[in-house]
Amino acid sequence: MKIDQHRLVLDDDTPAPFRQTPNISRGRTITPQYLVIHYTAGSSFDSSVDWLTNPDAQASAHLVIGRDGEIMQLADFNARTWHAGKSSWRGLSGLNSHSIGIELDNAGILTKTPDGWRSAFQKTYPEADGMEAAHKNGGGMRGWHRYTLNQIEALVAIGSALVREYGLKDVIGHDDIAPNRKSDPGPAFPMEMVRSRIMGREDETEERVECTAALNIRSGPGTGFDKIRDALPKGTQMIVTGESGVWIAVTVLDGDDPTDTGWVHSHFVKAV
Ligand SMILES: [Zn+2]
Repeated sequence: MKIDQHRLVLDDDTPAPFRQTPNISRGRTITPQYLVIHYTAGSSFDSSVDWLTNPDAQASAHLVIGRDGEIMQLADFNARTWHAGKSSWRGLSGLNSHSIGIELDNAGILTKTPDGWRSAFQKTYPEADGMEAAHKNGGGMRGWHRYTLNQIEALVAIGSALVREYGLKDVIGHDDIAPNRKSDPGPAFPMEMVRSRIMGREDETEERVECTAALNIRSGPGTGFDKIRDALPKGTQMIVTGESGVWIAVTVLDGDDPTDTGWVHSHFVKAV
């Protein structure tokens, strides 16, 4: 993907779908320095696009990504959209004037039910679509809607194109720039992995950990996923490749040789 005249161009050289939102500061352009990630807390891609292009919303973002990786751009990337609200980061305040906002279709906070999860707007989700985690800003353990692989891959591709075009300094969450008001994108969002891929920092540091007890390694980030082998013995070393809430993706090492890859609970590892 690439950016041309502040619009997203897809890999087949066609323009990304575009629907202009009226919710922008007219006559003003910005020089974006950051990419801010949000969840919609909505029920669908279409309903979120409709809302963010409705004048009553008094809110917007530059782009929405659906759960199948579908895309709708809502404003030129140098337009001042209304996604951040009262916010500050690294000496800047009012991040609407300094950032590009991307909304991910995600229900946000979920409540456990006997057979899965329920959103604040009473939509139900299967067990595997949710996870339990504590937000880094506080609030204790609660349920969160997971993001999808297609959604994250689309975000990484778009974010990488935006960094190339605008020289963005970092990828941050709404919950980083407005920590007292906002919980999005929250603990289900794999920020470390997305940031390192978008910013091209893969080789910067290799985070190596070892388990402090015998530790199960699973095919996904949660106890609902199958164990992929016998428990790792205490002291087994791993390289961290991603995170999802309290779960981390790892490559297991035998000496310095990589063996299995999977997910482990981060409470039972320490840095080495
Ligand atoms: Zn937000």
